[in-house]
Amino acid sequence: MSTESNATKILIVEDEKSISDIIKFNLKKEGFEVETAYDGQDGLNKALNCGCKLILLDIMLPIMSGFEVCKKVRETSDVPILMLTAKEEEADKVLGLELGADDYITKPFGMRELLARIKANLRRFEQKDAAGEAPAEVQEFGNLEIDPSRYEVRKNGQTLELTLREYELLKYLAEREDHVFSREHLLEEVWGYEYYGDIRTVDVTVSRLREKLEDDPGDPKFIMTKRGIGYYFKKP
Ligand code: CA
Repeated sequence: MSTESNATKILIVEDEKSISDIIKFNLKKEGFEVETAYDGQDGLNKALNCGCKLILLDIMLPIMSGFEVCKKVRETSDVPILMLTAKEEEADKVLGLELGADDYITKPFGMRELLARIKANLRRFEQKDAAGEAPAEVQEFGNLEIDPSRYEVRKNGQTLELTLREYELLKYLAEREDHVFSREHLLEEVWGYEYYGDIRTVDVTVSRLREKLEDDPGDPKFIMTKRGIGYYFKKP
């Protein structure tokens, strides 16, 4: 099964074999190595052990749902997770992001779009890895510290458990204090590509971030809403 190849390995967790096969075919054509799982339990095992750099995760899976897999993977790993969601299930997308998925793509999707998403998410993650090598100063915002060399945010000296996307959104806003950004702008800048989907992604990430960051998420002191426009960071 495993080879000595240096190719980036991607895990596909999808029980519909025809979908899995076509994704696998296209990923291999792009030079990726591919691992597949057809149920949630096997998906979780492979997610934790296959050394994959990104996981494509279907939601409706035998044995264990994609949501459960996502949640369990996030207990120990920050590997990028791209959820494959069905067309009308708006709530699924939101739940997936709340459980720590980095992104989602709606079925049916085109292979070009899928590849663009995969590459964007891998790039983000590699930048994160590379950041460990660059000397970067800790930025202080009141009782909040952002430490780019460790990709870490601390509040009153306590490290907050943020996903990569939450971290990047916070950092982006904090470095541009008081500047109001639209959701569209944040999607492009923080998610890093032309987004086909909906701007709800930004709202969900902001509310998740507030849960972790704010004393009272209902009365935020750091990430502020500008009604009808977007969000901005305020130094408390
Ligand atoms: Ca399925």
